[in-house]
Amino acid sequence: MSALTEYQDALGREFVLTGDAVEKWSRDWSGIYQWTPLAVLRPANTAEVSAVVKIAAKLGHVIVAVSGMTGMSGGASADGCVMVSLDRLNQIEDIRPEARLAIVGAGVILSNLHDAVDPHDLVFPLTFGAKGSACIGGCLSTNAGGSNVVRYGNTRDLCLGLEAVMPDGSILNAMTELHKDNSGYNLKHLLIGAEGTLGIITRAVVKLVPKPKAYATAMVAVPSLSAALTVLNRVQAETGDKVEAFEFMPAEYLDKLNKLKPATRRIFDIDHEVNILLEIGSTIQAECTPSDDGTIPLDAQFETILGELLEEEILLDAVIAKNEAERREIWERREAAAEVQLATKPLVNNDIALPLDKVASFYDVVRGRVLAFLPDVSISTVAHLGDGNLHLVVSLGEHNVDRKNDVMSLVEEVVLEYGGSFSAEHGIGLSKIPSMQRRKDPVAVATMRAIKAALDPNNMMNPGKVIPPLD
Ligand SMILES: Cc1cc2nc3c(=O)[nH]c(=O)nc-3n(C[C@H](O)[C@H](O)[C@H](O)COP(=O)(O)OP(=O)(O)OC[C@H]3O[C@@H](n4cnc5c(N)ncnc54)[C@H](O)[C@@H]3O)c2cc1C
Repeated sequence: MSALTEYQDALGREFVLTGDAVEKWSRDWSGIYQWTPLAVLRPANTAEVSAVVKIAAKLGHVIVAVSGMTGMSGGASADGCVMVSLDRLNQIEDIRPEARLAIVGAGVILSNLHDAVDPHDLVFPLTFGAKGSACIGGCLSTNAGGSNVVRYGNTRDLCLGLEAVMPDGSILNAMTELHKDNSGYNLKHLLIGAEGTLGIITRAVVKLVPKPKAYATAMVAVPSLSAALTVLNRVQAETGDKVEAFEFMPAEYLDKLNKLKPATRRIFDIDHEVNILLEIGSTIQAECTPSDDGTIPLDAQFETILGELLEEEILLDAVIAKNEAERREIWERREAAAEVQLATKPLVNNDIALPLDKVASFYDVVRGRVLAFLPDVSISTVAHLGDGNLHLVVSLGEHNVDRKNDVMSLVEEVVLEYGGSFSAEHGIGLSKIPSMQRRKDPVAVATMRAIKAALDPNNMMNPGKVIPPLD
């Protein structure tokens, strides 16, 4: 292990982990990807990250950056590699309410940032089921999405600036706090979504938004996905774009949820095929202050809109959360999705983005084609429907396990017919390399290869991820 001595000199012995100590860093949350790293390095700051990258470059080691290990695409798998964990870069360095920004280390856990900005009546509006483990560096590197993209955009939209250690160990200072900066190529956007293949993100300047003073949340049932889009557009128009979340849970998903968690209450008296979690939020004091009879104007407006939609039979049913506990109960159904879907392994997890007006037709066609190809699989989707992102999960059963690639390819074909993308928010990692090879525009892939070769000529940063190998 003398090869590791230089890392120990740079970080201190206790921050260079080997043997049994790397157990925690040897699998991702899903357990689908498992590996044995050569070592796990735990630098404390950017200078130490830079030092270990320089050592790795000298020793010819391959580096995989790692944050919360909740990635869904195998991007952090690191067999025989040196893993650089950002977990000690976990400082929230500054919160500047007036500028609506925070300066954070890459290892800050998402929910810790939520908690830290809350007393300022501000929100970092990136949220999803893994918020208690996923870190800022991982979210930036995968350009994570989640449930509030319909209102606030994805991680890329929430980042003003960042700092990164490049493959030669140099430190890129792009920690701008500016909303406008057209001084040359936007390198921040090159590193966001690069999944650790171009450098290691060490710090970031992130945007904050005013915290809604009240939310109104409901589960609604609609006759079809096209009707769901009508609901979204109506609620957006009548509230002035206040939709925070618009999440689709079909009957088949809710059945699986009930099987896994039998204590979960049924939502409606009768089961419906198309169920939507709909949440609006307001920052306007007058809309959120109870009137004399105790009614909150935002709630009243929500009830009126849903009532009209029910009368017009665009909605089949609606259950509005009466308090925070009921709101939480609604959200728990949605946030259990990853756990529910994983319980049906082996599976193909398609992370698809589509134009909003094509989702309904796509959904019918893709289900039909998958079931025609393999009639004995089960399909269950959950979706960030408000931004057109479907997680269409095909549970194969052990006997179909060797058809995984065929199913992926079939789904991709339909996705492309509808002008969609086979990768919406989880990134490429290892799992979607075949999709990149098959479906990504060849000029785009060649350009990515050229960028990778220019910045990382020795291919030491997370090789084999994102960019498919040459044929
Ligand atoms: C229950 C659950 C729900 C989820 N829901 C969503 C969802 O709704 N939306 C969504 O987008 N994702 C979701 N995910 C996926 C996952 O949480 C996100 O991809 C998240 O951004 C990963 O962050 P992480 O810190 O765990 O990164 P990791 O898994 O540690 O790493 C992910 C990738 O980024 C690279 N990387 C990590 N840190 C750095 C760094 N500092 N610099 C450079 N590269 C780095 C890694 O090498 C790897 O390629 C969910 C996951 C789970 C388990």
